[in-house]
Amino acid sequence: MDFDDSPEEGEFRAEVRAWLKQHAEPRKTGQPARLDPQARFERARSLLAAKGAKGYSAITWPKELGGLGGTEIQNLIFLQEQTQFDIDTLHGSDFFAVGLELCGGTLMRCGTEEQRRRFIAPLLRGEEIWCQLFSEPACGSDLAAVRTRAVRDGADWLVTGQKVWTTGGHFSDYGLALTRTDPAVPKHQGLTMFIIDMKQPGVEVRPIRQMSGEAEFNEVFLDNVRVLDSFRVGPVGGGWKVALTTLGQERSTAAALSFVEWQQLLALAQITMMNGQPAIADGRIRERLAECWLNNFGVRLLSYRNQTALARGAVPGPQESMAKLIITQQGQRSAITALDMLGTLGSLSAAMLGEQWSPIEDAWYWSPAFRIAGGTDEILRNILAERVLGLPAEARVDRKVPFNQLSA
Ligand SMILES: Cc1cc2nc3c(=O)[nH]c(=O)nc-3n(C[C@H](O)[C@H](O)[C@H](O)COP(=O)(O)OP(=O)(O)OC[C@H]3O[C@@H](n4cnc5c(N)ncnc54)[C@H](O)[C@@H]3O)c2cc1C
Repeated sequence: MDFDDSPEEGEFRAEVRAWLKQHAEPRKTGQPARLDPQARFERARSLLAAKGAKGYSAITWPKELGGLGGTEIQNLIFLQEQTQFDIDTLHGSDFFAVGLELCGGTLMRCGTEEQRRRFIAPLLRGEEIWCQLFSEPACGSDLAAVRTRAVRDGADWLVTGQKVWTTGGHFSDYGLALTRTDPAVPKHQGLTMFIIDMKQPGVEVRPIRQMSGEAEFNEVFLDNVRVLDSFRVGPVGGGWKVALTTLGQERSTAAALSFVEWQQLLALAQITMMNGQPAIADGRIRERLAECWLNNFGVRLLSYRNQTALARGAVPGPQESMAKLIITQQGQRSAITALDMLGTLGSLSAAMLGEQWSPIEDAWYWSPAFRIAGGTDEILRNILAERVLGLPAEARVDRKVPFNQLSA
């Protein structure tokens, strides 16, 4: 792949840069202290509304749905330029990411034309917020074991069950829910995906308080929630394939995160004193910096390759798992490296250390969470072992047994 801009791409880059300058502040060396959630929300929503009006919320999606009708390369250019600006796009601070990247992407690939016309444009303008209703108290990694039931009621469906770890569920308008419609067949076959109106009777959202004091995740209780058949995504019994599409989207989104850029780590190594000299003089730190550069750059190249494949019509596959596995672990290792330079001072908060330590603090808190969300490290390794390396598959004794014959 050619990394230089063509004249048209250069023109697009300049256009995007000018637009971003008009609508966002340049990124500082470190992020300022966190805004309160309401202020962050308002800021993110107004920026998304502006992006939506211009078609920048979804560069590659068709113009008639609110996108730009652009190419994957233009999308990449926008993402590259965006990193220079102070925009809430990472680590749970983007209230719209689940909708835009996971649910919207799923509707684009698996939804009906009617669903796309109804839901995509408001999503791109930040007018409607979405959440992902997959995990349950007894199923996370083993997602095909969902117990939330959807049963026919005339032309509609009634959905009953419990979801958990629902990011942003408390302010969402809609959710994409994986349900069991047929317990009499093996677990992967009896699943169906639905769009749930989160504001309707029977939906109860209970925020989970985190140790930070914030509540980003929720438990969601569904009690005979009426769902129109036109809100079904994909065929009855075809929910597993739809869920895999969402997970592929999720993994490629996480793979695009870099947590800590090597330049940030280098800058800190140059100004932080370690054993009486700048940390960069220490060979161990230089080695870890090189590792950070190698992994971040390698994953960037991998994601360019994936984007090119997607642009040619491929569907997200195991390569996203590889990128996510590397980048989330590297995020955590880079944060540890930076804190190691500080020695015992590393236990202080960024508010005390100075704002340049804020991205490190963020990576320290968030990279472990991304090693769980969207598929844990172990699950991704299983996928790579089986689907890329062709190693013997994990023993799955329940694969062919009807779900209702499995013991609890
Ligand atoms: C930041 C964050 C945001 C999230 N947001 C959402 C959301 O919006 N919507 C949603 O539905 N869910 C969400 N989740 C939940 C997430 O999808 C699950 O936590 C994840 O799939 C793991 O499931 P679990 O927590 O039930 O762990 P388990 O599946 O119980 O796993 C426990 C441990 O066992 C290991 N393990 C399990 N099975 C295997 C195996 N076959 N081989 C080897 N090891 C195995 C796992 O790797 C893990 O270490 C979020 C999670 C996080 C951390």
